[in-house]
Amino acid sequence: MSDEKKELEDLLEDEEKKEEKKKKIEVCTICRRTEQQAGKLIKIPGSLCVCSDCLQRSFDLFGGVGVNIEPEEVKNLSKKPTLSNINLLNPAEFQNIRTILQAEEKEKEETKPMRKKKFDIKSIPPPHVIKERLDQYVIGQNRAKQIMAVGVYNHYKRVFCDLDDEIEIEKSNMLMIGPTGSGKTYLVKTLAKLLDVPLAIADATALTEAGYIGDDIESVVSKLLTAADNDVEKAEHGIIFIDEIDKIAKKKNTNQRDVSGEAVQQGLLKLLEGSEIEVPIGANSKNAMVPLTTIDTKNILFICGGAFPDMEKVIKERLNKQASIGFKADLKDKYDNDNQLLLQVTVEDVKKYGMIPEFVGRLPIIFSLTPLNEDMLVQILKEPKNAILKQYQKLLSLDEVELKFEEEALHAIARKALEKDTGARALRAIIEDFMLEIMYEIPRDRNIGGVTITREYIEGTGGPGIELRRDGESL
Ligand code: ADP
Repeated sequence: MSDEKKELEDLLEDEEKKEEKKKKIEVCTICRRTEQQAGKLIKIPGSLCVCSDCLQRSFDLFGGVGVNIEPEEVKNLSKKPTLSNINLLNPAEFQNIRTILQAEEKEKEETKPMRKKKFDIKSIPPPHVIKERLDQYVIGQNRAKQIMAVGVYNHYKRVFCDLDDEIEIEKSNMLMIGPTGSGKTYLVKTLAKLLDVPLAIADATALTEAGYIGDDIESVVSKLLTAADNDVEKAEHGIIFIDEIDKIAKKKNTNQRDVSGEAVQQGLLKLLEGSEIEVPIGANSKNAMVPLTTIDTKNILFICGGAFPDMEKVIKERLNKQASIGFKADLKDKYDNDNQLLLQVTVEDVKKYGMIPEFVGRLPIIFSLTPLNEDMLVQILKEPKNAILKQYQKLLSLDEVELKFEEEALHAIARKALEKDTGARALRAIIEDFMLEIMYEIPRDRNIGGVTITREYIEGTGGPGIELRRDGESL
């Protein structure tokens, strides 16, 4: 036998062996996983195999089975594959599905670096810029904004520079004290938005120790993962805001087991400090049959907020005690009408209120927001970038109607809001009430070109000012 012939036979034998091997290891035509990886493969005519995942995925993509396609569309499919109109009963189409899915994956991969902005210290603006941006949305609360801007900046410095330095920078978790509707949640939301980090907002009253009815403490981390689109790295740089933290203050004089108060504070300690938490992906219950992932809370910024009603009393008591000794001796009612008293809050006051020392110790930045006064409420109505008045003006401008508010009308709205004692929260409800009539009636009469909201209209003693369109003015 000549060498050439032998070589040819060997080659053929190799090919046969390969073929045989291929036959033995069957793979899914779409995802190329073996039976071992993907579970039982379903054989379909045309010697094709599909795993149940891909089959399900195909069903989901079509929203039904057996959608016939026109011959014209088949031609188009090869040019630019789309996921609609593929005949699932035709095995050859599985090749198309595979091409389409591959193309989609490739597109995802290609666009990934563009969408995923690198998050590093350079992407965190310096404190003065953070404060300026907050100013565009949040009225007043200057000290709080400054403290937050510096705290956040330092926090992210610590996150990006903690490698093997000798000096470890302390975590800048914050405790924010301020009456209802003074802008606590709004500040945090605005901050997260401008930093472009995920934010989870949880209510401390809903949290209970694991095993009791309510959300267990780790569920807050789960919420953050959801906010970060299940991207663990993104979640680990996020912010968790725990509202109503004053509601888990230690209860005084109670013999019952304190499930929602002190125990929850204890439970939160390890989160605040930094620990690895196992959370389910894409669900907020560990009971669900979903895979778990681990999140390290070391670099998550925790901001706790609460109204702490009666905190003023605690502060006043302390100040009065100090003042009654030595030369500082003062009038006992000196602080009675001081609405800036909350700004003087100290760690001691917070502990006295019922927060356990270990908890307060893990929130090194403590600051307060002041109650909003009439002027601030008026500013909130008209100045922020997305102010309520601007929103209504925009809406009516689409009907080519100019909406104006008298300054006095705004003050009347602010006074009404103050009566409700829920801060800026009341503003929207009040204004919506007045605007309903306007928004209903104005588009009815196309001759109206302008409306002025007057103080009388707000106080119920008159109507709004109406301006008719001048002759010839077109709509
Ligand atoms: P809380 O202090 O109770 O968390 P929020 O932050 O939820 O109050 O405030 C409720 C709403 O009131 C916000 O959505 C925002 O529109 C408005 N608001 C409150 N405080 C301010 C503020 N200082 N500047 C601008 N808007 C504010």
